[in-house]
Amino acid sequence: MSDDPPTPRLLGEQTRAVHLPPAPRVVQEPLGQAVWRTSTYAFDTSQEYADVLAGRAPGYSYSRIDNPTVDAFASAVAALEDPVGTGIRGEAFASGMAAITATLMALTGAGAHVVAPAGCYGGTWSLLQHTLSRFGVDTTFVDGTDLDAYAGAVRSRPTALLWAETLTNPTMAVADLPRLAALAHDVGAVLAVDSTFASPAVCQPLRHGVDLVIHSATKYLGGHSDATGGVVVGREELISAIRLVRVETGGVLAPDEAFLLRRGLATLPLRMARHCASALALARAVVEHPAVARVDYPGLPGHPGHDLADQLFLRSDGVTRYGGVLWVVPHGGREAGLRLAELLRLPATGASLGGTHTLVGHAATTTHRQLDDAALAAGGIDPAGVRISVGLEDVEDLAADLLAALDQLTGSRGAHTDSAATRR
Ligand SMILES: *Cc1c(COP(=O)(O)O)cnc(C)c1O
Repeated sequence: MSDDPPTPRLLGEQTRAVHLPPAPRVVQEPLGQAVWRTSTYAFDTSQEYADVLAGRAPGYSYSRIDNPTVDAFASAVAALEDPVGTGIRGEAFASGMAAITATLMALTGAGAHVVAPAGCYGGTWSLLQHTLSRFGVDTTFVDGTDLDAYAGAVRSRPTALLWAETLTNPTMAVADLPRLAALAHDVGAVLAVDSTFASPAVCQPLRHGVDLVIHSATKYLGGHSDATGGVVVGREELISAIRLVRVETGGVLAPDEAFLLRRGLATLPLRMARHCASALALARAVVEHPAVARVDYPGLPGHPGHDLADQLFLRSDGVTRYGGVLWVVPHGGREAGLRLAELLRLPATGASLGGTHTLVGHAATTTHRQLDDAALAAGGIDPAGVRISVGLEDVEDLAADLLAALDQLTGSRGAHTDSAATRR
């Protein structure tokens, strides 16, 4: 019998490969953000684990519930939407539609009434019309620029939620946020606004009385067409209800996407300044072109939302930005619109907006393909219209390309009459 202590058992190779030494703890704030690519966390005790789960102790437990990289993105958007910091929070999602779904599910239920614009984003329209209706949520769709229509719908029966879009695709209608907020609050409803087309560098809807701001971060917030995400910003009590639905339904943003989206925010004001200045310059450059029937852009004085944009989008530096998307309607109907999109050489053709590249789409054949001419007319969408999401290219190049395409369109139509009466 030996008195020697037993030699500790050497762990096997695969066990040691799994139980690697922990990564170093970082004390200094990294300037570049860390990506916490983990789904779970290790606790010292089950009690500590229980305390974090119950919110009695700070910390992270599971990435469907919370993730530091994702939280960093959500709170960054909240800081941009609410620069004076009145205790609002952000919650991030896997996509804009996941954010919209969680918001609608948190604030409505069987028997609830929603009032939303008929021309709202197609995914939102379809979610309300086809899916949430099966769960007893009833939506009245109204002309989003007609406050009387909103008021009529709100007064017809108890209403839980008013939905609006700061700028509406594709004709860039501007929502009267202060009046809609007053209407909602009069009847104890919540006003939620999809502000994707504006971004906080154009408009901060919370300052105009809006309760919840939603973004498809896939567009301007990320800004590089390389990540999909969504975010909701608002008061704590609303956000915690929305957060609960997110945890339950699982539409969580991935840490890698959150990294890219938050990195995008660092250049959001610079990018938006460029997108908007270029869009305004292009709108002015083509509005008088003989091939053009009309241009819808809130920066043009004839646009029905121009004065409202001047009021709502006025920044503290005295500058007003009108968004980075314009709607160009050539003479010659559907065929001319299709042709114009094809004659453009610099822009890519495709879905989405808000990226570095200029993107064009002929709405009637792409984003609004389900609508026949009558339905397009009802939505105020001209079948000839081409949507241009103006990118970060040099505006001289974009203008030269657009004018050349319009010249070709004019040539192909032969003699034309100037129809300034239809132009604005
Ligand atoms: C793209 C978009 C959405 C949906 O966002 P996803 O990130 O594609 O889910 C919602 N609203 C508006 C206005 C959009 O442009």
